[in-house]
Amino acid sequence: MQPVKIAQRFQNIQPSGMLKIFQAAAAIDDLSNLGIGEPDFHTEHEIVDAAAKAAKEGMTHYPPLTGYPELRQEICAYWKRHHDLEVAPGEIHLTVGGIQAPHLCFQAMLDPGDEVMVAEPCFTAYFQQVEFNGGVVVPVPSRAENGFFPTAEDFEKAITPRTKILVINSPCNPTGGVITLEQAQSIAEVAKKHDLFVISDEIYEAFVFSGKHIPMASLPGMKERAMTIGGFSKSHCMTGWRIGYVMAPAALLKVMVQLSVVQTFGVNVLSQMGALEALRSQDAKMRGRTEEYEKRIRYSADRLNAMPGVRCPEPKGAFYLFPDISETGMTDEEFSWWLLETAKVATIPGTSFGKSGAGHIRIACTLPMEGLKKAFDRMENALTHRTASA
Ligand code: PMP
Repeated sequence: MQPVKIAQRFQNIQPSGMLKIFQAAAAIDDLSNLGIGEPDFHTEHEIVDAAAKAAKEGMTHYPPLTGYPELRQEICAYWKRHHDLEVAPGEIHLTVGGIQAPHLCFQAMLDPGDEVMVAEPCFTAYFQQVEFNGGVVVPVPSRAENGFFPTAEDFEKAITPRTKILVINSPCNPTGGVITLEQAQSIAEVAKKHDLFVISDEIYEAFVFSGKHIPMASLPGMKERAMTIGGFSKSHCMTGWRIGYVMAPAALLKVMVQLSVVQTFGVNVLSQMGALEALRSQDAKMRGRTEEYEKRIRYSADRLNAMPGVRCPEPKGAFYLFPDISETGMTDEEFSWWLLETAKVATIPGTSFGKSGAGHIRIACTLPMEGLKKAFDRMENALTHRTASA
């Protein structure tokens, strides 16, 4: 008897390589953790107070299914104010974290065997989400010399008659890359020429240190063929509140809303009230945090570039660095494990973000300056010692 008959497609489901290194890191005392992909700041107290007040006033019932109208209105104002993007409240749907957004979109759009091109290295939740929904992932590798974005030609070469969606993420996790206007325009042209839909994950839009954030949907002819993912986890340090949103064409939203009705039945009311306060009162604090991350990330890049065998491109955005460690002679997996074991510094191997991350590690600058200094002192020591004894 085998009453638990797992579906064929989930029979080989495995924890990611990232999880293994996190588990090993958790057992280490006095760890320098450069692995954590979330802000180290707590949610601001104004946001917490707004949510608590709503709870005390009886906002404890089901929410409107697409999100409170006043929150969707504030999201429109935010994108207009910061990125000059025109969106209407009717084009917005609240999601349970930004992570639910691509999942709903794949569910709504993919027929079995449909292909999804994903710019790589990337946040690999997209891979599993495509597969869970019957699609086929086509990773499109990028190169450091292109700021870690595939070129229009790279995408064009990967297109087949089954290609339906192209996924891009700027500012990028894990590379810290920020797409330029020219790059975004040329990718938009490919999407238009081949009638593709674009998922543009812009959850790190608040963290751009060099150049400016270009919303894909702001480019001519893109609004009707793009879904923008936004959120509060990174910009407003609200990872635990599990709230995000999409801006998308009506025909897609209609199906996504229906799907979310039977999955989540809306997004936590108190999180929505916190998010509303975040958009109304937190711009200055958000700017302050971006400045702090920029300071940290520039310091970190300088420290990395002074180490033997490590090359780190100029930081552009998000709070990640993606240095090349191939000159050390170790693979990225070997390097991250070696660094954890010899120097108590946790990083993530680049191949956790797809094959094209080989030879790189991801460093999250989510520690205060003194924590970063300690981590890089340890790392430099270990690398210098290794070079001297080699
Ligand atoms: N997109 C990217 C690129 C991310 O890095 C993350 C979180 N690490 C998410 C989406 C999801 O964020 P959340 O669900 O916390 O809003």
